[in-house]
Amino acid sequence: MSTTTRLALRRLCTSKFTRGFHTTLTRSSAKLRAQVREKIAEIDGTSPFSSALIDSFRRRHDYLRISLTERCNLRCFYCMPSEGIELSPSENILTNEEILRLAGLFVRSGVTKIRLTGGEPTVRKGISEIIAGINELRPYGLKSIGMTSNGLSLHRRLPELIANGLTHLNLSLDTLDEFRFEIMTRRRGLHAVLRTLDAALASLPFVKLNVVVVKGLNDSEVLDFVEMTKDKPISVRFIEFMPFTGNKWDVKKMVPSSELLRVISDRHSDVVRAPDELNDTARTWKIPGYVGNFGFISSMSDHFCATCNRLRITADGQIKVCLFDAKEVSLRDQMRQGATDSELLETIGHAVLGKQEKHVGMQDIDVTTNRPMILIGGRRPHTTLYQLISPIFIPPPHTRTLQRRFNSSSANPRLSHLDDAGRASMVDVDNKVPTKRTATASGRIFVPQIAYKLVTSTYPVSEDEGSAAIASHAAASKARRKGDALTVAHLAAIMGAKKTSDLIPLCHPLALSNISVVLSPEVSASGSDAQRYSIVCRATVSCEGKTGVEMEALTAVSVGLLTVWDMLKAVAGKEMEIGEIIVEEKTGGTHDFIRAEKKM
Ligand code: SAM
Ligand code: SF4
Repeated sequence: MSTTTRLALRRLCTSKFTRGFHTTLTRSSAKLRAQVREKIAEIDGTSPFSSALIDSFRRRHDYLRISLTERCNLRCFYCMPSEGIELSPSENILTNEEILRLAGLFVRSGVTKIRLTGGEPTVRKGISEIIAGINELRPYGLKSIGMTSNGLSLHRRLPELIANGLTHLNLSLDTLDEFRFEIMTRRRGLHAVLRTLDAALASLPFVKLNVVVVKGLNDSEVLDFVEMTKDKPISVRFIEFMPFTGNKWDVKKMVPSSELLRVISDRHSDVVRAPDELNDTARTWKIPGYVGNFGFISSMSDHFCATCNRLRITADGQIKVCLFDAKEVSLRDQMRQGATDSELLETIGHAVLGKQEKHVGMQDIDVTTNRPMILIGGRRPHTTLYQLISPIFIPPPHTRTLQRRFNSSSANPRLSHLDDAGRASMVDVDNKVPTKRTATASGRIFVPQIAYKLVTSTYPVSEDEGSAAIASHAAASKARRKGDALTVAHLAAIMGAKKTSDLIPLCHPLALSNISVVLSPEVSASGSDAQRYSIVCRATVSCEGKTGVEMEALTAVSVGLLTVWDMLKAVAGKEMEIGEIIVEEKTGGTHDFIRAEKKM
C-alpha cells in the first residue's frame, strides 16, 4: 500500500470522526477509535514503518529525541529564563521503565536513531542503565544512540556510557574563553568541558560541537572554532540563536549563518561544501586538508522543515512534533492509565498527523506558551490531545483535571495560609505523603572594608606595625570581643533553621535531616568601580516531610546575616546593609524550582 493511500485512509478516518463528533460524540467515539486502530493495524501490517510516524506531508519520522531530565548543572542564558524554571514534581518525570517502553515502541514502529537530551542528560540518575536498555533495541532496527550534553561532568563517565551502547556525542560549547563561558552559562566550567572533549575524541570516531552564536558575545570566536577542525575529527555546528520562552531573544542578537560563512570564506578562500548527512539539520562545509568540518544550523534564517524527521519526548512524557510548536500530548498519562502499545501508537499517530508543514517565521514564534528550551529537551499548561488534533478525542480524565487545575490556579491566585473567610490558618497537610525535600537560600551583608578585614584577617597585630595597625587592632579587639564572627554566624544560622516554626506563625514544625551553611567573604567591583565588601551566607536545608523547607533555609540565612551584623556592629553598625535574600532552589514538592541567576 502506498504512503498516499495510507494517508488518504487516515484522513478518511479522521473526517468520519469529525462528523461523528457533531452528532453522538460519547456513544460513537469508542467505536470510531476502535475503527482507527483497526485501520492503522491493517496499514502497518503491510510495512515495517508504521504509518503512525508518517505525517500528512509524507515526512517519515525515524529520529526520536528523548529528554531525560529538566535539570541542568549549567544555566545558559539562551536556554534557561533568567527568572528560573519551575520543575515538574519528580513523580511526573518518566521512569526508566516508561522511557524504555516508549523507546521500544518507537523503534518497533520505524525509529532508527535515538538521541538523549535534556536539561542535561548526564545529571539523570540511571542514564547508564537507560542507554544499556535502549541498546537492546538494536535487533528491532535501532542503528544509533546519541547524546547531546554540555560535557560538564561527563569525562570520567563517558567510557561506561560508550560501553553500554552510546555511539554519538554532541557537546555544547559556545566559547573557548573562560570568562565568556561564565557569562553565557552563568556557571564556571570551561576546563571540565574541554576534558570531556578530549575524552570523547579518544574514544569516538567523530564528535560534534554545538556552538550557539550570539552577536557581540561569541561571534568573534567563529574562526577559532573552525581552527579546531584542522587536526581533530570534530564537526563544529554553528547554531542560530533561537527564540524560546524567557530567553529575551532579539533578531539583533542573531547572526545569520550566511554572515558567518562570509567571515570564514574571507579567511579561507578555499572553503568547500561537504556532503550533508541524510536529514541532517546542518549544512556542512570544510577547509581542504582539515580533518574535521563545520556546518550551520540555520533554524531561523533558512529552516529545514521539509526534511524534518524528528519527534521529541519531554522529560515529563509529552510528545512534541515540532520544537517551535507549543502543542503537546501526554504519553505518560496514557501509559499510567494502562494504555496498550497500540493505543499509544494511535495517540502518537494523531500527534504526527497534526504536524505543520513548517514552523512560523522567527518573529512569530510562540514564546509565551511554548516551553523554554531547557524543558523541551517541563512544565507549562498542558495542551490536551483534544486541543491538539481531533475534535472527537475525549481527553483522559486525568488530563482534564490538570487543565482545570491550571485554569483555576492561574485565574484565581490564592494565598494558601488563608481560609475561606480570609482568616489566617495553617495549611492542612494531613493527607500529603512525606517526600525528601531540600531548599537552598542565600543572602548577603555588605560591610565596610575595615569590618571585612577584621573578619578575614588573623590575630594578633604586632605593635610595630604602626599607628594605623594599632587603631585597627583596637577595632579588631572591639569587634572580636564576642568571638570569631563567621563561626558564630554559622552556628546561629543552624539554630535559626531549627527554630523556624517558632518564629514564623503558620510554618509547620519539621524534623530537619540536614542543615548546611556556608559563609563566604566576597569583594566585588560596583558600577562606579569602587570595591564593595560583603559576606554571603548560603544555607541548604533538607527534611523528609509533607511541606517544603524553604522557610527554614531563608530563616537560616537571615539569622546568619543578622548575627554577622551583631558581631560587627561595634565597628560598622551604621554602614552595613543586608539584602539579596532569595530562594535559589527547592526540590521534592509539587512546585520544584531552580533560579537561573544566583545574584551572588
Ligand atoms: N544540556 C545539553 C546541552 O546543552 O547540550 C542538552 C540540552 S540543550 C537544550 C540542547 C541543545 O540546544 C544545546 O546544544 C544548546 O546549545 C541548544 N540550545 C538551547 N537553547 C537554544 C537557543 N535558544 N538557540 C539555539 N540553540 C539552543
Ligand atoms: Fe543546560 Fe540548556 Fe545550557 Fe544545555 S543548553 S547546558 S540544558 S542550560
